[in-house]
Amino acid sequence: MKRESKINETPPVCGIEYDEKPPEEKCSHCKNKAVIYLPYAERYLCKTHFIKHFEKTFFGTLSEFKMINKGDKIALGLSGGKDSITLLHMLSLLKKKLPYELFAITIDLGIGCDYNKETIRIAKQECEKLGIEHHLFKLKDDLGCTLDEIVEKTGTRNPCSFCGVAKRYYLNKHARELGAKKIAIAHTLNDTAETIMMNILRNEPLRLFRYNEHLIRDEKFVQRIKPFLRIPESEVIAYGRLKGLPILEKKCCPYSVFAFRKFVRMQIEELEKRYPGTRFKILNSFLEMQKMFKTDGREFKIRHCAICDEPSSKEICKLCELKQKLSLR
Ligand code: SF4
Ligand code: ZN
Ligand code: ZN
Repeated sequence: MKRESKINETPPVCGIEYDEKPPEEKCSHCKNKAVIYLPYAERYLCKTHFIKHFEKTFFGTLSEFKMINKGDKIALGLSGGKDSITLLHMLSLLKKKLPYELFAITIDLGIGCDYNKETIRIAKQECEKLGIEHHLFKLKDDLGCTLDEIVEKTGTRNPCSFCGVAKRYYLNKHARELGAKKIAIAHTLNDTAETIMMNILRNEPLRLFRYNEHLIRDEKFVQRIKPFLRIPESEVIAYGRLKGLPILEKKCCPYSVFAFRKFVRMQIEELEKRYPGTRFKILNSFLEMQKMFKTDGREFKIRHCAICDEPSSKEICKLCELKQKLSLR
């Protein structure tokens, strides 16, 4: 299928908000027209220089944190949204440089909206195009009910917390059963900065430090890697657009309005506008604090749930707690 690229008609994409349009400028490195402005670096970049910058940051992050090694079997958590579709393409690009195995897992949450159907369709289509093995699991089959049914049964005002628990649990379980060594997830710099701030605001320091997943040693726990750790969401979108990928930019999950994350996101966005580079500063402070955080390993010890035997930080895992709430056991 031929992809439509609107790059020539698309105005430059600003590095903070992808729908804000900076003035027409030349690239800071050559005479070509800029397609993006990076406020934290005070640089305009043309298509060629932006793609170079993006790929350099991506591959640099992979090697900085030794995320993928030769021969590794990697499962990609592929929702089919903009970030994970771009990550699918980047990981597929990596296969040309490094011999390793890649497959994708999509969890169909069973949200009755067009966005859910569309993301699953795109996930399937892109894996087929790139020749990547794709596994689709339905939450209804795994848990016995869809996310819509969970929301209805529990009357929760925070569907994201249940959704997060279920996605994390089943992604880990399926990836492990399919033989993955690591799970790649498309968390961008924005997601990481928000997670750090949310854990601070909720006074959950241990949860914050457990973000250091490479320290967790457990045969049932599959380490998660975040190759977009140092890349702002706006740049992931810009790269996807420039490469003509089928990225859904505006439509999003109908439950996202309930999220505490959304509120934190808005606050960080405000800060970023006033003080460009705030997200990088949050991430870098966190990485520095992690180095200073001395541990004998206890903090990262994972137990197994007394009911389902899956990895858990408490005696009963959060999914089994959810099942109890739903009386599904
Ligand atoms: Fe799940 Fe919330 Fe994301 Fe929707 S917005 S997919 S409910 S975490
Ligand atoms: Zn240039
Ligand atoms: Zn359990």
